[in-house]
Amino acid sequence: MNPKGIERKHSKQREAILQMILSSRSHPSARWVYEHVKPAIPGLSLGTVYRNISVLMEEGLVVSRGVVEREERFDGVVTSHPHLICTCCGGIFDLPGDIPLDFSWVSIELPDWKEREPGSGAFLINHQKTHFYGLCSRCYIG
Ligand SMILES: [Zn+2]
Ligand SMILES: [Zn+2]
Repeated sequence: MNPKGIERKHSKQREAILQMILSSRSHPSARWVYEHVKPAIPGLSLGTVYRNISVLMEEGLVVSRGVVEREERFDGVVTSHPHLICTCCGGIFDLPGDIPLDFSWVSIELPDWKEREPGSGAFLINHQKTHFYGLCSRCYIG
């Protein structure tokens, strides 16, 4: 296969992996993505899925939500938003509703600091991570 053909094959795999992450909304692990994309792309390996997810993260199309139940989990919604995490099955869900936690830069006054050093005492927040832990219905209803 010529280099152009190889690149096309790679981008087709990467596109399938991205679409699976975007459509699942389950904040999947690489293994989950591998199992769900493999039927459509028979030659796919787990290593290829990891490599493609790394590229997608470098391109800013996917972000890691950290390790839950020993597996790194990925999100196709790259803006910061709060998550509900089930401590029983490791399910990760976007918090529904519009709690305004998404912002770029917010300045918060720290009164203690202001008293000590006039003219100082603001903290600039540029991102946040909030997780709410509990049980999802799959787990509490059984
Ligand atoms: Zn659960
Ligand atoms: Zn999310």
